[in-house]
Amino acid sequence: MTTRYSGGCACGAVRYAARGEPVFQNHCQCVDCQKRSGTGHGSYLSFAGRTHVEITGEASKWRITADSGNDKLHAFCPTCGTPVYLTIVAMPDVIAIHAASLDDPAAFAPQAITYGARGHGWDAVDPTLPVFERMPG
Ligand SMILES: [Zn+2]
Ligand SMILES: [Zn+2]
Repeated sequence: MTTRYSGGCACGAVRYAARGEPVFQNHCQCVDCQKRSGTGHGSYLSFAGRTHVEITGEASKWRITADSGNDKLHAFCPTCGTPVYLTIVAMPDVIAIHAASLDDPAAFAPQAITYGARGHGWDAVDPTLPVFERMPG
């Protein structure tokens, strides 16, 4: 299946296709996103219905307690190592996909910056976006 929000890892072994529209699109500057990306932030599209995101291929997962105190499961391709999506243990219906894993990354329309309190001066993201010191809600 291909949708506006289809994508996958760099080698193609793990693929996803999300139906419907994301409920939140953000750049996240939390420490976890910095460590995993190797740069100043991660960029995500979150979908509220896990069943609306079809995943093919077998991702490997690892778990970490995030800045927010929530446990997150990071899913990455075991072949190429690309991070593809993540889930929050306490909110099993939510799935966030990495913006640059989209087949059409231009479909990403960021609405906010989260964990701006952790951002670095050298990681200037769109200054017109609202900045949350942490995660809203
Ligand atoms: Zn891969
Ligand atoms: Zn983050």
